[in-house]
Amino acid sequence: MAETAIRSPLHLGDDMAPVRDPYTGETIGSVCVVAADAVGAVMRRAREGSATARRMSRAERARVLDGAARMLEERAESFARLIVGEAGKTIVQARKETARAVNTLRLSAAEARRNAGEVIPFDAYEGSAERQGWFTREPLGVIVAITPYNDPLNLVAHKLGPAVAGGNAVVLKPSELTPLSALRLVDTLVEAGLPEDVVTVVNGGAELGAALVAAREARMVSFTGGFRTGEAIARSAGLKRLAMDLGGNAPVIVLEDADLGAAVEACVSGAFWAAGQNCVGTQRILVAREVYAAFRDAFTARTRRLRAGDPGDELTDVGPMITAEAAAAAKALVDEALAAGAGLLCGNRLDGALYSPTVLEDVPATAAVWRQEVFAPVVVLQPFDTFDEAIERANEIEFSLHAGVFTGRLDRALAAARRLEAGGVMVNDSSDYRFDAMPFGGYKYGSMGREGVRFAYEEMTQPKVVCVNGTSDGS
Ligand code: NAD
Repeated sequence: MAETAIRSPLHLGDDMAPVRDPYTGETIGSVCVVAADAVGAVMRRAREGSATARRMSRAERARVLDGAARMLEERAESFARLIVGEAGKTIVQARKETARAVNTLRLSAAEARRNAGEVIPFDAYEGSAERQGWFTREPLGVIVAITPYNDPLNLVAHKLGPAVAGGNAVVLKPSELTPLSALRLVDTLVEAGLPEDVVTVVNGGAELGAALVAAREARMVSFTGGFRTGEAIARSAGLKRLAMDLGGNAPVIVLEDADLGAAVEACVSGAFWAAGQNCVGTQRILVAREVYAAFRDAFTARTRRLRAGDPGDELTDVGPMITAEAAAAAKALVDEALAAGAGLLCGNRLDGALYSPTVLEDVPATAAVWRQEVFAPVVVLQPFDTFDEAIERANEIEFSLHAGVFTGRLDRALAAARRLEAGGVMVNDSSDYRFDAMPFGGYKYGSMGREGVRFAYEEMTQPKVVCVNGTSDGS
């Protein structure tokens, strides 16, 4: 499968970089790499693209987005195979990501049609009764979008869809590990009628990303990725709007009255989906002591039944991690926890980029697998004695995205929803449930903005007020 980057008519150098299949190690394509010193040329093209995008009516933007959604749906299997090839997601998971990306584009089209502003009630308070007016939602201009490797299609759709719906131009830098799905998505948008200069894809790594972030022409940096990168971006962006979708370390609480079978099934999926490379993946499971042993035994047995291996195989549950280095780094964190007294219930075997689903207990609260985002197929089980203790332990990490709670009692579910410090609390579900229309983002350290199409669209547009003075009843 040869894929080549062609998404820019600018001549930005002849350097090519290979894209590798994480499972086989084979090169599946190559992309042109843009040097950091070419950012000036990239931004000139983006500014032209911004003028083009601004001229598009809402109907045109919606038609492009709906058209691209339809094409993506028709070509879903080939997109899913591309995700398997470059990201190592299983084919079942890749199909789900593709279906979600179709929805993301459709929701974006709807936003272009619907979310145009509001009437301002000037006569609602004394002093402005002679005025009438409204605010519109205007484009920001050029948006720099930087995306990670783990959802190489849908996370890109979450940038491009709302940005195009809002009438912006985008400079997109996808992960250097998984640029192919992004390129094909942009090709699809162009085929659906998006003018070429509205989205410019540039391939490269941290240096290119940093140069884009620093470019004065950019009005916003919309970033999805890790905390360290987010901090570097925040330090160098200057006076630009920032949207940060960063990492997680999601807790799920299982109360003694929960349906244990359902909790086990959902938490196994939540912990090991996409080989744990999932920002809302379940990392810490807090279980009421009365049911801890039963939960642990069932959870471990179910995990052992997961099939790890070839992500292209319909029966595989857990594919490779993105690189052998990432898998080795995850194992090193687990080994560190084991050396500090943690117990291994299953997993911790390494075979290249394949890292077997790993379940730990008795993990010290100081261990990295408890405190940091592991972003690997690793989950920690932890008993608790009281509801208050469960909430406190769940909340003790300084950053968060999602949390979950399993219980048969409505009062407990609502109390957990109120007290858990998270951008979303899933009741009787694992932390990794996400619907693309809901507001999505971090809750504590690093919480800057929300994705979810309507919310990203609102962050990617700015209100402009029109106020008409001297209105009267016409007599
Ligand atoms: P990463 O931060 O290493 O890289 C993300 C992107 O940033 C890549 O395109 C990379 O090239 C670029 N980059 C790296 N250094 C840069 C710099 N100095 N300036 C500008 N750009 C730079 O993340 P990753 O390893 O690709 O992805 C995993 C991380 O993403 C995890 O922490 C995960 O939780 C997070 N994530 C968050 C969400 C969310 O929506 N909250 C979704 C998926 C992944």
